[in-house]
Amino acid sequence: MLAASTVPLTVAYDVAMLDLDGVVYVGRDAVPGAADHVRRVRASGMRTAFITNNAARTPASVAEHLTELGVLAATGDVVTSAQAASHLLAERHGTGSAIVCLGGDGLHAALREAGLVPVGVDDDAVAVATGYGPDVLWRDIMRVAVRVRDGLPWLASNADGTIPTPFGLAPGHGVLIDTLSRFTGVTPVVAGKPQRPLIDETVRRAGGRRPLMVGDRLDTDIAGARNAGIDSLLVLTGVTRLPELVAARPEERPSYLSSDLGGLVVPHPAPGRADDGWSSGGWRGVVRDGALVIDGDGAADDWWRVAAVAGWDHRDVTGTVADITGLGIPAVAGSGR
Ligand SMILES: [Mg+2]
Repeated sequence: MLAASTVPLTVAYDVAMLDLDGVVYVGRDAVPGAADHVRRVRASGMRTAFITNNAARTPASVAEHLTELGVLAATGDVVTSAQAASHLLAERHGTGSAIVCLGGDGLHAALREAGLVPVGVDDDAVAVATGYGPDVLWRDIMRVAVRVRDGLPWLASNADGTIPTPFGLAPGHGVLIDTLSRFTGVTPVVAGKPQRPLIDETVRRAGGRRPLMVGDRLDTDIAGARNAGIDSLLVLTGVTRLPELVAARPEERPSYLSSDLGGLVVPHPAPGRADDGWSSGGWRGVVRDGALVIDGDGAADDWWRVAAVAGWDHRDVTGTVADITGLGIPAVAGSGR
């Protein structure tokens, strides 16, 4: 269910591909401890790459933000879904091709970086690229919708349904995709996680042989790693809480689990079967009458591993999600909960 590693993950893998929001930072602020963890990871010889579905910001602005937070990063360390989309377009249509750009600065810059020519919604083009852009105009959306309906190939940077903002979760690019798809009847090619292009692009740029995806979302980071055939570490500093974890479908289950990025520099025991339940590091978890029960004592990370595996096993056997309402949940370092 979960994988075991007798050596630290920094030894078992050579590149950590770190998702950003919910892993390294939350909005503008660093996840507590993240800068120290990244320093230790790098000191161990593991390379790091930062990977984000957010297509609106340029790698340079993301690198600057990371460096402000104490995580030293160069522009080349950051890979965005806009870059993956642009690479895909250059492969398909050739460099020098004109591409309608409907999105933010990050998408525009990525198209240029890939040798493509971003053009306006009325210009001749071989395809359209779309991505999140807070200043995209409705009249441009209408124009692109008609051109896609009439057959212009459409590539979307990412399909996230939400985007974090200072005023809370707001509609992400996935909502615009739904709108365009509803009108056009066309489903776009998507570059971002959980689709492969962004992860493949990161592996290509980072150059490692044994990459590990590190993320906080089951349906993008972890499912994307599985789609790309690479191992993954789920951290609990972002959006995944116990209800999502125990309900995870097999294709959304990580190889490893830890409360935060400190999980990269330690070995990982995997829960084993114990009587009718699962145990790890002093904890034992079992689902009784549909409810998850965890007894014992030990480290918080082992508690979470036992909870995850007992929940997944129950789901696989019964087809139902374990009830977790009675559980006392240990605090997760750095997450503020
Ligand atoms: Mg995230």
